[in-house]
Order: sequence, then structure tokens, then C-alpha cells
Amino acid sequence: MNEIRYDPLSGHRVLIAEGRADRPRDFDISHSVDSNLDCPFCAGNENQTPDEVLRANTPDTADGWAVRIVRNKFPALSLPSAPRHRKEDLALDRLSDASGSNANPTVRGEGLHEVIIESPEHHIRTTELGVTQLTTVLHTTANRLEQIRGLSEFQSVQIFKNDGPVAGATIAHTHSQLIALPMITPSLSRELTAMALHREQTQHCLLCEMQENEIRVGKRIVAENVAFTAFCAFAGRQPGETWIVPKTHQPDFSATPFDDCRLLAEILDQVLRQLDVALTVPAYNSMIHSAPLEGDFADHYHWRMVILPRITTQAGFEWGSGCFITPIAPERIANAMRHGVTEAIRANIQMTSRAS
Ligand SMILES: [Zn+2]
Ligand SMILES: [Zn+2]
Repeated sequence: MNEIRYDPLSGHRVLIAEGRADRPRDFDISHSVDSNLDCPFCAGNENQTPDEVLRANTPDTADGWAVRIVRNKFPALSLPSAPRHRKEDLALDRLSDASGSNANPTVRGEGLHEVIIESPEHHIRTTELGVTQLTTVLHTTANRLEQIRGLSEFQSVQIFKNDGPVAGATIAHTHSQLIALPMITPSLSRELTAMALHREQTQHCLLCEMQENEIRVGKRIVAENVAFTAFCAFAGRQPGETWIVPKTHQPDFSATPFDDCRLLAEILDQVLRQLDVALTVPAYNSMIHSAPLEGDFADHYHWRMVILPRITTQAGFEWGSGCFITPIAPERIANAMRHGVTEAIRANIQMTSRAS
């Protein structure tokens, strides 16, 4: 039976339409990546990257580095030309342009766009790093987020990873990125509103409640340890959309202590391996949703990591409506992830797609 699902955090709707699995060309299966021996992110080529803003060493790499964060060579935002305070009003719906019209509200596109180089070696997949290195990656990223909190210009930071060309990656060497913005993003703003309203109405955190429900129901849980729960999202926008949620109510990823970064690395590594089996090594995006840099969100906001395999293609309906269609229910993918089996429907669709 088809279902329309509603995600109370983001407000998006997802149409669960399993019958569509028989349609050809629902899956994009091209995710091959070419390695590059002249890679600017490999050890020895440090002079090919722009300014380094943070570096982490480990006892094993005392002469070199384990993780580097550098400015993006092709940033989406330019560095701020003049200091401004984050409280400066950037509400686009209240801005007007030079002529006094508010038809084309515009603000300066200024912020930070940085690359987190996750290894000195030319590893391509996150799962090649190992848990110790992945712990250093996550802890260094949390430290950088805390540093940016000390800068006055920015209100929110989006941390994300594009793994595979289908997911938007242009350099094979494993890396993630962060963009610090002088505003709160629409997605974060929606979540803040939903979570604040839920707190006001029930005195509870919405994501704490969602997580408790997932543990009680069990059928979408894919991994768990003492600090984190991982489950396929009830209203996942793509087959296998997985959330990793801290068990303790915590608004801000940057406050994650080292030991918890290790537990996060363990469960992230496990989830990515599960997805590799269940969805045949998918390209994916991962995102960290964390509280804004300033303000009191401690009671109602709860950070999480979202892993979004890139399986189906967004087409006219999705772009036009803001709704999503997924041909496989999250419960089926979760079951495949837990049992280490490949989702048969995907294989069927690949064959259909190749034949068409
Ligand atoms: Zn490399
Ligand atoms: Zn919570």
C-alpha cells in the first residue's frame, strides 16, 4: 500500500510507492571514481591547496599530519570583506535593494567554505580510513566548528560530504566540507521552529522522542552503541536515508567529546558498510545538522548526522512539489542493512534499467 509520510522535523512529505520499483530507470547506478596520482590532497602536495586553517597530528604521524582543514580553492562564498556582527539582520524577506524594491532581495555572498582532508593517503571511500582515523576526522571537524563559533560574522555552519560523482564529488581523495553562513539556513530554521513548537506543546525534545520511538518499534534500527542510535528515517527521501542520533540530548555537534567522536566513528563506519552491502556501494551525501552558533537552543534542538544514499533521481514532481517518491520502504532497507544482504529490488531495477 502506498503511503504519504510527513517528517515533523523538516516538514517534507515522502510518498512511499513500492510499486514503482518495477519502473525502469529509477536508479542512477553510475558512481565510478578515477583516482588521481597528482592529487592535491595527498601528503607531499600541501602547497597545491590554499591556506590551511587547522591541522591534526596523531602520535603515529608526528612528522606529518592526520587531518588538514584548508580553504576551498573554488569557494561557494567569498571571505567577508569587512567585519560584521552575526546579529546584523539578514532576513531576506525584509530586505530591499538599492531602488527600495523588495523584488530582488540580495545580501553579500560571504562566508567560509573549507575542505576537511580526511587522510594524508589517497583513500577514496570513508570506510578505508579505519575507526581511529575517522575519529580524528570527526574530532578535528568538531574543533573547527567550535573555532568558528568564536568568529562574530557567522550564524550557522553546514558540514557535509559528497561521496561519489553522483553525489557531487569532484575530487576522489576522501574529504568533507564545511560552509559557514551569515544566516540560519532554511532547513535549520524549519527544524528549529518545529522543535521549539514541540517543546512548547509537550515539554519534550522532538528528536529525543523520535529516537525513543525508533528504539521501541525497532524495525528501522540498523546499529546502536552506548552513545548513538542509527536508524533508517521514517520518511526517508532516498532509499536507505539513515540518521545517526546522539542518545543524550545535545544541541551542538561541536560539544562532542573525543570518546564520543570515537563511538560516532564506529557507528558511522558500520552504517556505511551496511549501506555498501544493502545498496551495492552507493554514492551518498552526509550532513551534520547542528544548532546555530549563537542563541539558546539547549532545550529543544538536538543534533544529528544524516546519510543520504543517492539512489533515485529527483525529477519534475520532486522539484515542483518539494515532495519525494521512494520505491522502497525504509523498513525493508533497514532489514537488509541489519542482515547484511543486498536489496533485491535494487538489483532488479538495475537489470531493468540496463535492458531498457
Ligand atoms: Zn589524494
Ligand atoms: Zn533531544
